Amino acid sequence: MIHPKTELRFVNAEIGYGVFATEFIPRGTILYVKDDLEIEITMARFRKMDKTHQDIVEKFSYIDERGVRIISWDHAKYVNHRCDCNSMSTGYGFEIAIRDIQQDEEITDEYGLFNIPVPIDINCGCTNCRQVLLPTDVDEYYLAWDQQVESAIRLINDVHQPLWEVLDTVSRTEVIKYLSSQSPYCSVRKLKYQGQTEVKKNKTCAA
Ligand SMILES: [Zn+2]
Repeated sequence: MIHPKTELRFVNAEIGYGVFATEFIPRGTILYVKDDLEIEITMARFRKMDKTHQDIVEKFSYIDERGVRIISWDHAKYVNHRCDCNSMSTGYGFEIAIRDIQQDEEITDEYGLFNIPVPIDINCGCTNCRQVLLPTDVDEYYLAWDQQVESAIRLINDVHQPLWEVLDTVSRTEVIKYLSSQSPYCSVRKLKYQGQTEVKKNKTCAA
């Protein structure tokens, strides 16, 4: 589920649609929660699909740490990638604003945390664009991404969080324990699908 102060807008013919902030959203705001309404497609189910459906799934899904493809039930599936994104996945079952987002600014993500199966050419138009997304990007960049994510998570209690109530209890507890220094920070590297047998439950960071 994506933040309520966002909406779908047409960007252009090349990019298609994108998700935009309808109000100012401060850094540290939870922008997306992987909730129970999300559509989950296992590797086995994906492999049995016809090409038409596989293409649709590939376009709109991300692959989580279990190797399951997730398609959002709402407009979260239209969030585009930018190498200088303003939203990033975390090890806590949600995405967070890593900087202040102005009204009418596009919400953008780091697809390098989405377990893309094959390289994807990109042209974000951003300074220092990586030009191609690689399945190994998380290993290359996770330390830099963790810096941005961890400093944003530390602001969680300082900003309005409309999505806090839809976050699952386990993730909420993990965030609270981190903020009260009872648990270490959970790296975004946790999101990497290691290719092991799919597991039913979300791994905890300690697992
Ligand atoms: Zn780029």
